[in-house]
Amino acid sequence: MNGHADIVIHDALVVTVDDQNRLFRNGTVVVADDTITAVRETRPADRRADAGHVIDGDGRLVMPGLVNAHTHLEMTPFFGAFGDMQPAEMATQMTAVFDALWTGELDYLAEAGAALAAVNFLRGGVTTVNSMDARPRACVDAYAETGLRGFFGPGLSDLFWDHPVAEQVERFRSFVADYHESYDGRIRATLCPHDDWSVSRELWERCGDLAAEYPELPVHTHLLELEYSDVIARSNGGADSLALLEDVGLLDDRLVGAHYLTAEDADVDRTAEAGASVVHCPSVFCHWNPDSDVQWTPVPELRDAGVDVGLGIDDHYWHDSYDMFGEARQARLAANLKRSANQYDSVELLRMLTIEGARALGVGDEIGSLEPGKRADLVVLEWDVPKFTPPTNVSAQLVGNAGPGDVETVVVDGRVLLDRGTYRTVDPGVVQSRVESALDRFERESDWTFSLTGSDPPSRTEVAKQLPKRGPARMLSRIALQSAKDTVFR
Ligand SMILES: [Zn+2]
Repeated sequence: MNGHADIVIHDALVVTVDDQNRLFRNGTVVVADDTITAVRETRPADRRADAGHVIDGDGRLVMPGLVNAHTHLEMTPFFGAFGDMQPAEMATQMTAVFDALWTGELDYLAEAGAALAAVNFLRGGVTTVNSMDARPRACVDAYAETGLRGFFGPGLSDLFWDHPVAEQVERFRSFVADYHESYDGRIRATLCPHDDWSVSRELWERCGDLAAEYPELPVHTHLLELEYSDVIARSNGGADSLALLEDVGLLDDRLVGAHYLTAEDADVDRTAEAGASVVHCPSVFCHWNPDSDVQWTPVPELRDAGVDVGLGIDDHYWHDSYDMFGEARQARLAANLKRSANQYDSVELLRMLTIEGARALGVGDEIGSLEPGKRADLVVLEWDVPKFTPPTNVSAQLVGNAGPGDVETVVVDGRVLLDRGTYRTVDPGVVQSRVESALDRFERESDWTFSLTGSDPPSRTEVAKQLPKRGPARMLSRIALQSAKDTVFR
C-alpha cells in the first residue's frame, strides 16, 4: 500500500454512491487522517496493512454516512411526549416550550436533548445533521463532542415569536462568530429564516442582507409547507413564496428548503433554475397530516428537474423515530400511497439519504459518497446475516430493510466514533442520566408529568394565555386581510 493509512477496511461489500453508483463486491476503503485515499478491489496486502484500525469487512457492507438534512435537536427529551397528542394540543404545548427555550431558561434541556440526539443518530449511521433550533448555542457542544458533523442555526421569526428582530439578528451574528467552522470545521453555521408563514417582509429583507454579508453560509428554511404559505407571501408583497425569496435575494444555490409539500410545477422549475435544494421529510407529515387533501411533495418532478433532494427526519420527537433508513422507506411508501406505485427506484432513495443530502447542504464535494479525496464519513453494517439474505438488490435492502441496529461501526472525519457497537467518544449511560435529570427538573419546574404510559401536559387554556401574542396576532390578521383581498380581486 502506498502512503500511510489510519483505517483500512478490506474484503467488504463497498457501496460508493459515486456518480456511477459503483459497488465493489470484495472492496477496500483506505483512510489517512480525515480523508479517503482509496476505494477499490481488495488486494492481499490490505489484510496485513499497517494502520491503527484494520477492519475485516468480510460479511460487512461499507457505505457513506447518512445525512439528516433537516431536523431540530433541542426538544429531543420530549421523545414519546407528543406522539399521542391531538394536533392542536401539540401545537400549543410545543409553541410554549419553544418560547421558553428561546429565553435560555431551558438550556439544560436543550443540551441534554442534543447529546441524546447525537448518541442515537450516531448509533443509526447518521454522520451529519442540519438542525434549526431556538438555542443552537445550547446544543452545539453536546452534539459536537461526540465527533459528528453538523450544521446549526437559530430560527428567526417575527410572526411566531415576540422577541425583537434586532435581538434575533444579534444572536445569529454571535452564533456565527462563536461556532462557524468550529470543531475542526465539523460544525458550520446556517442562516435560518424560520419559514414562509411566520417571517415578515422586513425580516426577509434583513435575512437577504445577512446572506450577502455571510456568503459562505447555507440558508435553511421551511418552504411551501402550508396552504397559507403563498397567502402570507402575498401579504408580504411577493407574488408567492418563491417570488418573495427571489425579491430579497435568497432564491439561489445556497437555499435549502424543507418540505415543498404544496409545490406546483412552476415552483419546481424556479427551484431548479435557481440551483436551490429541497429536503423531504415524509415521516413528520405522515404522522401529523394537517390536511388529507393537500398534495404530496413532488420529489420525482424535483429530481427530474435536477434539484438535489435530501431526506430529513425533522421533529423526531413528534413521530418517535431516530431511524434515517426509515425515512427512505417512508418516502417510498407515502409517495406510492398518495400518488401511485414506482415513484422511486431504490438507488434514488439511497442517493437522497447520502450524496443528495450532502449536495443540498453545499458539501457534496466533501462528503456523501465514498471516493478518494473526500472526507472519511462512513458506516459499516453487518451484512452477511439472515436479514439481508439473499443479498439481491443492495440498494433495495438498504432503503427498505436496513435499520439503526444493523450499524456496527461509524467513522466521521477519519475518527472511529462507534467501533463494532461500542461508543468511543461518548458514554451513552452518562447521556441517559443527564436526560433523565433534565426531564425530572423540567417536570418539577413546570406542570408537565411524564410516565410509562405517556405525558400529561399543563392545561391548554392556561398555556395558551402565556403564548406569544403580538407576532401571531400580526400573522393571523395578515392571513385574514390577504384572504379577503384574494377573494375580492380573484
Ligand atoms: Zn422542521
